[in-house]
Amino acid sequence: MTPPSFASLMPTYAEPRVQFVRGEGSWLWDDQGHEYLDLLSGLGVTSLGHSHPEVADALATQARTLLHVSNLFGNPIAWEVADTLDRLVGDGTPLGGKVFFANSGAEANECAFKLARRFGGHGRHVVVSAYGSFHGRTLATLHATGQPAKHETFQPLPEGFRHVAWDDLSALESALDPSVAAVLLEPVQGEGGVNPAGLEYFRGVRRLCDERGILFIVDEVQTGLARTGRWFGFQHFGVVPDVVTMAKALGNGVPIGACWAKPEIADVFRPGDHATTFGGQPLATAAARAVLATMETERVPERAAAASRKLVGALTEIDGVVAVRGLGLLLAVELAPGLPSAEVADVLMGAGAIVNAVTPTALRLAPSLLITDEEIDAAVTLIAAAVKTVGATT
Ligand code: PLP
Repeated sequence: MTPPSFASLMPTYAEPRVQFVRGEGSWLWDDQGHEYLDLLSGLGVTSLGHSHPEVADALATQARTLLHVSNLFGNPIAWEVADTLDRLVGDGTPLGGKVFFANSGAEANECAFKLARRFGGHGRHVVVSAYGSFHGRTLATLHATGQPAKHETFQPLPEGFRHVAWDDLSALESALDPSVAAVLLEPVQGEGGVNPAGLEYFRGVRRLCDERGILFIVDEVQTGLARTGRWFGFQHFGVVPDVVTMAKALGNGVPIGACWAKPEIADVFRPGDHATTFGGQPLATAAARAVLATMETERVPERAAAASRKLVGALTEIDGVVAVRGLGLLLAVELAPGLPSAEVADVLMGAGAIVNAVTPTALRLAPSLLITDEEIDAAVTLIAAAVKTVGATT
């Protein structure tokens, strides 16, 4: 019999170079015993670091107590997490909003689309999003994703999505006809290259949506839960969205997504309008409860903001780095011309540090929000050395 191999999986990913078998804090170990400084956190997922003890304990306890009940029955842990999320969306002030729990970011966005259609009514169902955005891989979230190259293979995609230039208020305004139910934006385009929205843009979008009775949905799947140094990315812009979607960091690695909406919007849903088998079940919500409690006790947004200042300051000094952009600990390191980011990322992997090439010229960093000063120093030393190595060979 042939041993199990990567070839048994559908070929949607390139074959990886390493297999990780253990993680702790900012560190991962592969099956050969090599150590890696994880500066990507599973793409912004393990924001409290790997194997966080409080999350691990919460999971173990819950697994021994009650793993799952269907949503036909109540799960008070989900109610508690929903209340906490509502308070955090309000930056400390409960807003009375309501939450639907899902299993991923794409599913959280699907909930937001259905809510927007239910709220808008027939004939008012279009979601306008930005070029360069990323909102998921289900058919609807793929169409919301403003990257036409990703659409072509899967046409026809579900109707009702429209794209406009990013960070351009007049382009958005021209796309807002009476068929539009919602505008969907990331505060920082993550997969699109770590492009933060402008302050005036986000404020302008809020104003336009208010004037036209259109919902403003903010996709915080990558930026949410302290990643940008605030609880949510939109809080940097002083606006409150109508709907907020989140996932990645919420379970610190346990699959869970959530769609929050203001009460008058959430209340347009009726029993049977939307559902999920696993969303909001006890195990996933126990993880989320432990994540949020730890983030609040450890003042993780403030820590992330402080770590960001140190990291950005040091990265900017590296010879071969021309700019560092992003918010908090979601950063892109723009390399000097002639330094391909994929090669630098590859050299870093060989040297024991994980980043990704988010554009052909930029590395993305999304380290643990609890990264220490020593780990920041180690990261900067490794990145500087990799940039130098690639610079010497190209
Ligand atoms: N929205 C944003 C902003 C994302 O970055 C992602 C994933 O990278 C998604 C949605 C999709 O999330 P998931 O892969 O959990 O479906």
